[in-house]
Amino acid sequence: MTSDIVVIGGGTAGARLARQLGTGARVTVIGEEEHAPYNRVLLAEVLAGRYGPEVIALPEVPVRRGVRATSIDRERRLVHCADGTEVGYDRLVLATGSNPVLPPLRGIGPGLPEGVHPFRTMDDCEALSRAVRPGTRAVVVGGGLLGVSAARALAERGAKVVLAQQGEHLMERQLDVSASTLLRSHLEAMGVEVHTECRVRGLRTDADEAVSAVVLADGFTLDAELVVLACGVRPRVGLAADAGLTVRRGIVVDDELRTSDPYIHAIGDCAEHNGVVHGLAGPALEQADVLASVLRSGATARYTGTRALTRLTLASATSPLDLAAFGDPTPRPGDDVVQLADATRGAYRKVVVRGDRLVGGVLLGDLASVGALARAWEGDEALPDSVPLLHLLTNDGGL
Ligand SMILES: Cc1cc2nc3c(=O)[nH]c(=O)nc-3n(C[C@H](O)[C@H](O)[C@H](O)COP(=O)(O)OP(=O)(O)OC[C@H]3O[C@@H](n4cnc5c(N)ncnc54)[C@H](O)[C@@H]3O)c2cc1C
Repeated sequence: MTSDIVVIGGGTAGARLARQLGTGARVTVIGEEEHAPYNRVLLAEVLAGRYGPEVIALPEVPVRRGVRATSIDRERRLVHCADGTEVGYDRLVLATGSNPVLPPLRGIGPGLPEGVHPFRTMDDCEALSRAVRPGTRAVVVGGGLLGVSAARALAERGAKVVLAQQGEHLMERQLDVSASTLLRSHLEAMGVEVHTECRVRGLRTDADEAVSAVVLADGFTLDAELVVLACGVRPRVGLAADAGLTVRRGIVVDDELRTSDPYIHAIGDCAEHNGVVHGLAGPALEQADVLASVLRSGATARYTGTRALTRLTLASATSPLDLAAFGDPTPRPGDDVVQLADATRGAYRKVVVRGDRLVGGVLLGDLASVGALARAWEGDEALPDSVPLLHLLTNDGGL
C-alpha cells in the first residue's frame, strides 16, 4: 500500500475511497464542508422533511472538516490549506465534485441576494429548510433532475412553487417528451406550477436586498420569497488547473484514474474519463472502488466506464412517482422501439434497441422490469433472440 494518501473532498467519492482503503491505510481526507460526509442524493428528502440530516449520514470516516485545500505543490508533494496547514502526500486524490452553475441573471452579483440558493450541499438544504413555510412563494429555476427534486420537496413543505424550465420539457437529459409530460402532470397534481420554454432574465430585490421577484425574458414577473437555482453543475477543477494538470471539461484521468501527474488521481464528478464527465453518484462510487484497488495493490484494477441508471423517487403524500432512465431514449432511424403507456395508472415504459443491444430507456410509474433492464444495460449484454421485445417491459423484463 502506498504510504500517505491525501484525499481532497469528503463527499460521495472521497468518503467511499477512505472507507474502502480502511484503517490499515494512512489516509487524510480534507473536506471543506463542516458536516460529516452524507449521501448527497438524498438531500431532497431532507428538504422535503421526510428524513432528518442524521438519516442520510454516510458510514463514519475521519475527515478534517471545514478545511479547504487551496493549492497543490507538485514538486514538494504538498497540499496547502486555507487554515494555514500543509499536508504531505505520496499519492493525492482529487474528489472535489462539482459546483452549481450560477446563471448570468440580472440582480446576481458576487454574492447571492437573500432568499436565493443553489441546491448542492447540506448547508444549502438547511438554509432552504429554514426559509420555507406553508404558502411561501418559491421559484425553482431549472427543470432538470435537481430542479424537479427541489420543486417536489418544497411543494411537500407547503410552498407555492413555480418551476421555470428553459427547455421544451422537464429532465431533457433523461426523458423523452411522453415521459416528461407524465412527470409534469405528477408535479402539477402536487401543486407545482410548471412553465417550460421559460427563460429567466433576472431577479428583483427589495430594500433589504432580499429577493422579491423573478423576471422572465418576456417581461412577466413571478413574485418570489425563495429562489432555487438548479441550472446544472460544472466539475470543480480549479485546484487541478492551477497545478498544471491536464483539464478539459473535467480533470483528465486514464483507466487507473490517474491524472497527467502519476502521483495524483481524480475520481467522481470532477474527473473526465474517456471524454465523459458523469456527474452521477453511481460512477463516483465505482471509480472510488476501482481506485481503492489500484492504491491497495498497485495491481490490475482498471476503470472502464460506468453505464449508470438514473433513478428518482418523487414521494408525495398521495401517490409517489418512481422513475428510472438510462442511455438515450430517443431512437435513431432503424432502431426498434417498444413503448407501453397507461394513462390511467400514470405509467410509461419505453426501451430503444439497436441490433441486439439496449441503447436507452425510460420507466416511469411502473418499475417492475427495472432490475432485469438494469442488468442488461449495465453489463452491455446481448438481448436473447428468443424473447419478444415486448417482454423487456413486462414482468421481470423477460431476460
Ligand atoms: C440534490 C442532489 C440530488 C442528486 N440526485 C442524484 C441522483 O438521484 N442520482 C445520482 O446519480 N446523482 C445525483 N446527484 C449527483 C451526485 O450527488 C453526485 O454525482 C455525487 O455526489 C458526486 O460525488 P463527488 O464525491 O464527486 O462530489 P461531491 O459529493 O460533491 O463531493 C465533493 C466534496 O469535495 C469538497 N471540496 C471541493 N473542493 C474542495 C477543496 N478545495 N478543499 C476541500 N474540500 C473540497 C466539497 O465541499 C464536497 O464536499 C444529486 C446531487 C444533488 C446535489
